[in-house]
Amino acid sequence: MPASLLEVFLDHARHEPSRPLLSFEGTEYSRGQLAERVTAFARGLKARGLAPGERVALFLENSDAFVITWLGVQAAGCVAVLVNTAYRQVELAHILSDAEVKVCVTGSSGASELVPLRDQLPSLQWLITVEPAPSGLPAVAFDDVLAQGAASTASLPLPRAEDLAVLGYTSGTTGRSKGAMLQHRQLLSNVRAVTEAWRWTDADRLLLTLPLFHTHGLMVGLHGTLFTGASVDLRRRFVASEALTALHDDASLTLFFGVPTLYGRLLEESRRTGVTPRPLRLWVSGSAPLSPQLCLDIEARFGARILERYGMTETLMNTTQPYDGERRPGTVGMPFPGQEARVVDVRSRQPLPRGETGEIEVRGPHVFTGYWRRPDATQEAFDADGWFRTGDLGEWDPDGFLRITGRARELIISGGFNIYPREVEEVLTQHPSVAEAAVLGLPDPDFGEQVVAVIVPHPGAPTDAQALVDWCRERLAAFKKPRRVVFTDALPRNALGKVQKHILKERLAAS
Ligand code: ATP
Ligand code: MG
Repeated sequence: MPASLLEVFLDHARHEPSRPLLSFEGTEYSRGQLAERVTAFARGLKARGLAPGERVALFLENSDAFVITWLGVQAAGCVAVLVNTAYRQVELAHILSDAEVKVCVTGSSGASELVPLRDQLPSLQWLITVEPAPSGLPAVAFDDVLAQGAASTASLPLPRAEDLAVLGYTSGTTGRSKGAMLQHRQLLSNVRAVTEAWRWTDADRLLLTLPLFHTHGLMVGLHGTLFTGASVDLRRRFVASEALTALHDDASLTLFFGVPTLYGRLLEESRRTGVTPRPLRLWVSGSAPLSPQLCLDIEARFGARILERYGMTETLMNTTQPYDGERRPGTVGMPFPGQEARVVDVRSRQPLPRGETGEIEVRGPHVFTGYWRRPDATQEAFDADGWFRTGDLGEWDPDGFLRITGRARELIISGGFNIYPREVEEVLTQHPSVAEAAVLGLPDPDFGEQVVAVIVPHPGAPTDAQALVDWCRERLAAFKKPRRVVFTDALPRNALGKVQKHILKERLAAS
């Protein structure tokens, strides 16, 4: 039994080295070519004094160098730290110091962000740069690390199942991001479950436009490809026109993964140009709720029902709509094979029957070991039986499909009533003048919290707060209607398109 995904990949490369694996901006890598570079990079790290267990950060756009670094760091026995490329000095200082990162692999703009942080990051010794970089920190070129490693024959013991593979920092949607400690066995177990559930085989080819610094792109998209011996067309970033062209022209593609905002843009582009994708074997959405309307609009235009799945940094993929069988819009299906999920009452922590909303908990071989250097947060997150509290609210629908209804932290309690922001948001976005809505609770002296709706109107649409309150009043219980409606041009979103309500709250509290 292999102990890591790296081992599976190296096995594939030994058995059929010439099979195509990765395309990136005109460069093609076979399995063997990629394995050769991964090994060289790992030896290069060793030759430069990196020891097993030390942390190497990837602050990099999607590229072939990202893939080589990701696997090379693991082959050297080091721990990878993934950093969102949108992050700037405050987030970088937090993550790189929290993880005590020794080396950071980055491009020229990444290096420019890091140089001024030098004094705040005593553990950061040098950079590996994929492009020419400003001086200010000792740096070595990515290609030089590869060349140095290619000249070395240092032995590279394979990682053990229990070795730490990665510190996955959460997206920071609800606050400061935390480093989730993931071991090789957890990555391997989850990718096995995902590929089995989605019937992923070596005949598949994925168009991958999601960022690799995040679980969705990396641990699902890239890992599934490596595990099954399939191939991937990797893009630096998502550009709707380019993605649509590829999906229309390239008959070898069988898979596409996206977040809801990305599907929205793909649909818009298709409507604008009249171009539609060829049929694919599987379209997957996750990372944020896919609105049933968007799901049906995509189906009407692309002729396929998206499969929605639910995952998170700490646990990788938790649940999926069935590959065969009904993909019910607005639900995220059932646990992947070999994993468990339940919905519990937020106070008693007892499992709830179908139809009742509570916190989603998960358990299984895919769940992370704990938060890096945060024993308090780790202890809070697990119960004595090993159930992990996801912080997400949900319920089983009458047929046993999981429906996510929001985040536990975002639950509004007003006058003793529970209000789920998602429900109010769905009603608001059905109003013809509303493009986007975010509902949150602000302190209220009488009710504990009051419901506040932040609305992005459609261009040119009227901004009539009372009309929206009345709209909700007609469709929902009175206690759920917004007490305050605020209009804005755009909602604050993180790189994955998730609305950052804690930022909205701060803004509203200050105004
Ligand atoms: P933080 O934990 O730092 O606040 P985050 O939870 O957004 O940030 P991630 O681990 O990237 O960080 O995201 C996982 C979360 O994304 C889940 O807990 C869930 O709230 C949301 N999510 C993922 N998939 C879906 C989905 N299909 N539908 C609804 N929400 C989803
Ligand atoms: Mg989270």
